[in-house]
Order: sequence, then C-alpha cells, then structure tokens
Amino acid sequence: MTNDLQIAARKVASRNPATLEVLREFECAGEAVIREAVSRAQNAQAAWSRLGLRKRIFVLREFQRLLHGRQAQVARLITHEVGKPIAEAVATEILVVLDAVRFLVENSYQCLRDEQLPHGSVAMKAKTGQIVREPYGVIGIISPWNYPFSIPATEGLAALAAGNAVVLKPSEWSSLVALELASLLHQAGVPENVFQVFPGDGATGEALTKAPIDKLIFTGSAATGRRIAQVAGSRLLPVVLELGGKDPMLVLEDANVEVASSGAVWGGFVNAGQACLSVERCYVHRRLYEPFLGACVRKTLQLRVGNGLNPETDVGPLIHERQVRVVDEHVQDALIHGARVLAGGHALPELGPNFFAPTVLADVTHEMRIMREETFGPVLPVMAFEREEEAIQLANDSDYGLGASVWTRDRRRGERVARQIQAGAVMVNDAVSCFGIAEAPHGGMKASGLGRSHGRFGLEEMVRVKYVDSDRLPGLRKVWWYGYGEAFGRQMAAFLDLQFARSVVDRMKGALRSARLLSRKGKL
Ligand code: NAD
Repeated sequence: MTNDLQIAARKVASRNPATLEVLREFECAGEAVIREAVSRAQNAQAAWSRLGLRKRIFVLREFQRLLHGRQAQVARLITHEVGKPIAEAVATEILVVLDAVRFLVENSYQCLRDEQLPHGSVAMKAKTGQIVREPYGVIGIISPWNYPFSIPATEGLAALAAGNAVVLKPSEWSSLVALELASLLHQAGVPENVFQVFPGDGATGEALTKAPIDKLIFTGSAATGRRIAQVAGSRLLPVVLELGGKDPMLVLEDANVEVASSGAVWGGFVNAGQACLSVERCYVHRRLYEPFLGACVRKTLQLRVGNGLNPETDVGPLIHERQVRVVDEHVQDALIHGARVLAGGHALPELGPNFFAPTVLADVTHEMRIMREETFGPVLPVMAFEREEEAIQLANDSDYGLGASVWTRDRRRGERVARQIQAGAVMVNDAVSCFGIAEAPHGGMKASGLGRSHGRFGLEEMVRVKYVDSDRLPGLRKVWWYGYGEAFGRQMAAFLDLQFARSVVDRMKGALRSARLLSRKGKL
C-alpha cells in the first residue's frame, strides 16, 4: 500500500542533443492535473471569447512585437533544446510564427465573421440564413519536437484568435521551448488559464485526449496518430491529425540540374532530415541521373555538420540516439539490397552520439525500407525513371501523402504533374518551404493525416459552424406542414415541374398547377 502511494512521479528531461547536457527535468503531468487544467480553461474561455476578435487580435499583435524583440534568445533556446542550426531556428520557426500572426491580423475577420447564406430553392426564398462560427471551447494540442516553436504556436495562435482556450502537451524533448511560447503569450495579455502548457510523456498526452476537451490538434507520427484516432473515435472527439510523410521529389528531364540538386540537398538535410516535409525520396529522369547525383554528392560533401549554436553549422544532430539507429538501419537495409553510398552513410560518433553524416544513396528500389518508411534523418535516396507516368506512379506508391515536389523548366507541366500526385501540398521547383507560407493549408492524405492547419483552412478547424435560419413570414403556416392529401400530392408534383422540368412549357404548366399551394390552408 505504502509502496503504491510512493511510486515516483514520471519525469522527462530536456537535453541539448548536440552535447547531451541536461537542461532541465520536468515531472510529467498526470491525469488529475490535466483534468483540472481543462476545467480552468473551460472557465476562462468564455471571457476570452467575449473579449471579441478585435481585442484578441490586439493581444496577438503584442505577442508578435515581443517575439520580434526577443527573436535571438528564442532562437538560441530552440537550438539548445532540439539542435537545429541557429539560422534554421530563425527562418523556420521565428519567421514562420511572426508571419502566422500577420496572417491572422489580416484575415481573421474575413474568415470568422458571420456570413449571409442566400437560398437557391424557390421553396426557401422566404427564409434568411446565416453561417455563424463559434469557438469550440477548449482545444487540446499535442505537438512534436522537430518544430517545437512553430507547430504549437501556429496552431495555438489560430485557436486563440478564434476565441478558444488551449491546453498544450509539448513533446517530451522540447518542453522548454513550449514554456517560452506560453510565457510570451502571457506577457502579451493572453490570460494564464487561456493558454496552459503541461510537459510530459505519451501518457500525459493520452490523459489530454481523455480529458473533456472539445477538439484535439495532434502533430506527430502516424503510429501515435492511429492510437489517438482510436481514443477520439470512442468518444467522438473532433481531431486534426498532422502525421508523418515520405515526400517524393520528381526531377523531370527538362529540370535545371544545378538548381534541382541544391533543392534536393537542402530539402533532404534541412533540420537534419527531421522535417515532416523533408525530401525523403528522389526520382530523377534517367538522362539527368548521373549529373544530378554528381552535383548532389559535391554539394553534400561541402556541408558542415556540428553543434547548431555555431553559426557556420549547416546540419545539426538528430534528436536522440534512437533516431540515429533508425536512420542507420534504413541505410544498412538499402546497402544489403543493392544501393550504393555516394556520400556519408554512417554515424559521426566523433561529434557526439546523435550525429549522422548527410548521406546520398544511389540505385535504390521500392523494395527497400528507405523508400517506404519515414526515415526522418539526413538521407537522400535517389532512383532513376524513364517516363513521366512512371515517376508519378512511383511517387504515389506510398502509404503517405503529405508533400511532394516537381522540378521542371516548364511551370505548366509541373502544375499538371502536381495535380496527379497524391499529397496535401505539391511544390513546383521548391520543397519544404510551403510550411512557411502562412496562407497555404498544411496537412496530408492517406497515412499523413486528417484536416488542415495554417491559413484559412487551419482557422476553420478552430470553429464550429452553426447555421441560423429566420423566417421572413413568421405569421404564415408553411405549405409543407400537415394536411396531406391527393390534391397536395398533385400540387407538389407540379411544383417539382416548375423547378426541374426541362421544357419551358412544362415549367409554365407546373407554375400554374402549383400556384394553389400558396393559398393552401392545411388542416393542422
Ligand atoms: P510522436 O508521435 O512520437 O510524438 C508526438 C507527440 O505525441 C509527443 O508530444 C508525444 O509525447 C505524444 N504522444 C506519444 N504517445 C501518445 C499517446 N498515446 N497519446 C497522446 N499523445 C502521445 O512524434 P515525434 O517523434 O514527436 O515527432 C516526429 C513525427 O511527427 C514524424 O513522424 C513527423 O513526420 C511528424 N510530424 C508531422 C508534422 C505535420 O505537420 N504533418 C509536423 C511535424 C512532425
């Protein structure tokens, strides 16, 4: 009995992945703590919503001002806790969040305002309808570590703009960055109970999925996403699932090899390959295959791998040793099955246990794990194709469907190919960066998830749509109410002719025969 009561609290440690220095330890929030937090959020949300959009936007602008002023410290903290080069912390985290606020300032009113809904049906012309958007209430957010600031911030800011309260469970690997986000929001004027952060592990996340939140925005792996979907399904909790990817890059025969190879190297190795939109598979037209590989190898060998705090670093560490092992297993599996390593291909223990050399693999096939499973590391596997249709078919031969890119000198051709690729976003002549376009919807199909974040569609996920309908003739009983009979049946058939008969003559006959409906008194 005493032993049961004395079970040590679970802890998560925040570590610098480049040095393994422990930055801080946190006790994982348990079920009771999360439930209380959700209850406080419920109580605080009504006042936040009543504040009105203009005042909420004013608070978000203040957050933007504070973040802009403190960009250097926040970027350092991000690099400290998850390892990415400081330049990436600025460009892919701080900039993305500042611009997300700009989007909300410029567009929230237009997206969230009430909307008149004209009725097309003649029968419903005497009614006037409106679409009203209401906040869900309390939005739970569960986030990953790879974009520890921009993911919870963009989702959280949209939720707040729409009038919701937020309870955030950040990744166990990036609690400090999430707490910094909360601190900035609170200083800007978001009440403490309207945006709360609870560090913890998967069990803390699970507690949030079971707490009485009104919607959940989850970003993470497909495996965890499936588990969450089951819990959500059992209680009919609305969810957005932003899951993993295996993004293909298609280099068509008219592509600029110099540009496409630079794009492949950046798209494959940005954030050490730990981006959901990373280039994870590369298909190159046979005619460009050798020069493309040559250019990729030359550029990869110039990359400087090291501690992200050094401004000269291009590629930082992976988040933990488990991830290094996954990457190594994928590379070894490819080699056993006939792939060739042209650059890298191994860990870099001399830099620390979490470093892996940027790797270019040639002659890969779709039977290899490296082309089927999310690698989430700095590996660029390259395969040749002969025809455009074959490249599209290879791109679509995947469980995932998050992003993709097409490289060609012919923009119209690129856009035509883009339409045939099964993905939530396809870029022509760039990769990954659509995540930084505040207007662009972000999300996937197939195992890459459900729903959207970012932009108008992301904001729509934060509100319930309600339809409000008013009758303009409230003193009249409606013709379709009780009092059925043979005459009513004939009049209704004529009314259908009035609206849908193909010939004008039949429509006119329908109009005459259905006119009696207007004087119909009914029996009840
Ligand atoms: P993960 O699935 O291991 O963890 C994500 C979050 O879920 C963490 O906060 C974790 O603590 C929590 N969690 C774990 N088990 C849980 C459970 N049973 N119930 C509730 N919460 C639980 O993912 P990760 O390693 O943190 O992130 C990497 C993955 O995220 C990759 O697959 C990547 O592609 C994906 N990702 C997707 C997007 C996107 O927008 N589609 C963006 C970034 C990352």
